[in-house]
Amino acid sequence: MSDLVELQKIAREFIDKRDWRQFHTLKDLAMNCSIESNELMEIFLWRDKNFEDHILTGEDMKSLTMIKHEVSDIFFSCLAIADHLHFDLEDAFREKMKELDVRYSPDEVKGKLSKIPSPDNKNK
Ligand SMILES: [Mg+2]
Repeated sequence: MSDLVELQKIAREFIDKRDWRQFHTLKDLAMNCSIESNELMEIFLWRDKNFEDHILTGEDMKSLTMIKHEVSDIFFSCLAIADHLHFDLEDAFREKMKELDVRYSPDEVKGKLSKIPSPDNKNK
């Protein structure tokens, strides 16, 4: 069993112990994923440019903890969506990374700030 499958099992058990599956529609799971992403962004809202530096240097452990929690909330949402739709998130991630590797060819985008899509993939 992969680590990701084990984490998906932990998320499933958390949901089932609370009998929350009955409330989990795909729409609500997707909305939850978006809301948790916004909670992550909220941490950075109205912060000055030194905020990130203080996190990176370890001076702001409270914010680092908040970020860890929100990223974990997002990850939980992703696991719940994968479980709801019965797909393997690890396989989906590997497939997506292959797609991104083609779309953002290192030869075209390496060291560039803007993402330059390959001509074949402009609309993805
Ligand atoms: Mg949250």
